[in-house]
Amino acid sequence: MAGGEAPREEGRPDRRFAGLRARGRAPAGQTADQAPAESAPTAVLDIRDLHIHFPTDDGLVKAVDGVSFALERGRTLGIVGESGSGKSVTSLGILGLYNRGNSQISGKIYLDGEDLVAADQSRVRELRGNKIAMIFQDPLSSLHPYYTVGNQIAEAYLIHNKVGKKAARAHAADLLKRVGIPHAETRVDDYPHQFSGGMRQRAMIAMALSCDPELLIADEPTTALDVTVQAQILDLISDLQEEYHSAVIMITHDLGVVAELADDILVMYAGRMAEYGSGQDVFGSPGHPYTWGLLGSMPRLDRPRMDRLQSIRGTPPSLIHVPSGCPFHPRCDYAARNNGRCEREVPELRPVSLGHEVSCHLSIDEQRRIWAERDKVAS
Ligand code: SF4
Repeated sequence: MAGGEAPREEGRPDRRFAGLRARGRAPAGQTADQAPAESAPTAVLDIRDLHIHFPTDDGLVKAVDGVSFALERGRTLGIVGESGSGKSVTSLGILGLYNRGNSQISGKIYLDGEDLVAADQSRVRELRGNKIAMIFQDPLSSLHPYYTVGNQIAEAYLIHNKVGKKAARAHAADLLKRVGIPHAETRVDDYPHQFSGGMRQRAMIAMALSCDPELLIADEPTTALDVTVQAQILDLISDLQEEYHSAVIMITHDLGVVAELADDILVMYAGRMAEYGSGQDVFGSPGHPYTWGLLGSMPRLDRPRMDRLQSIRGTPPSLIHVPSGCPFHPRCDYAARNNGRCEREVPELRPVSLGHEVSCHLSIDEQRRIWAERDKVAS
């Protein structure tokens, strides 16, 4: 472990060796026998060494390949990466929305201590909408055009609670009011096409909150909205999280979206964890060249305006033919520094400071030095 460890933030779970334990590896300096046994999950969501693979005619799609993280109630995790990085499949795995017949899933998804990977589908269905809820990215295609908005919000409430239709409708109207829909008592009987884009997204949020979920997953919740409405929806999610004390996973390709909201950030690349740490770690002292690329491609108000934003060269790899060694090596400007190791050897996720993990062969000193140079040039 490098020197200069940050003191542990109060109230923040110590995840220092969580990823290592989940993979059955010992922390540096310990043999496997000396490593602590796998601990019981304490966070509301505890994912350990999750793999989700899909066999296809063209080969095995490794959509999620060894993902581990823990999330407490009241906290927000931002999962960031380009399209095809595995972030949405991770969330669909948590919701159990994969076909067990044509997918291979291994690892653990503990929700309140219960392993959803081992649970049968009827049990996962029972938890979905009740303990776990999702806000999808396109409300127009997620809301059914044939049913009123109120009906769709009330549906999960009716299924999971012993109440009549009248009480469920009143609950739906109340939720619409709480998410800021004016005249909610009458708008509850409107159809989705009678709502604007922003109102439909608010209705989706009301639907997700209808059973007071412990875990709320928002998959690109603002992508289909214009910028001013985006800000309102993000504020709304943040306010409601405070009110409901849910754990929130925010999935996005845009680091800017999670900059304000997320307590912790997981950067994914090619189905794997590239970097995992607090928002402060990932924005303040990122260690992975892919994270540097993502940060360089986003406009920042705390930096002088640049003529052009920097892009990451190349394109994300096929998840069937993931590059050997570090999957980022064909696009990485620093791959040549490691004498071919980047092409040969998959980098392990290793702690660079307390609660901050990076999977890169660059030494911690090199990571810090390169980031400091890049940061100096940008500011
Ligand atoms: Fe780049 Fe090598 Fe680090 Fe991968 S392991 S990000 S290729 S320096």
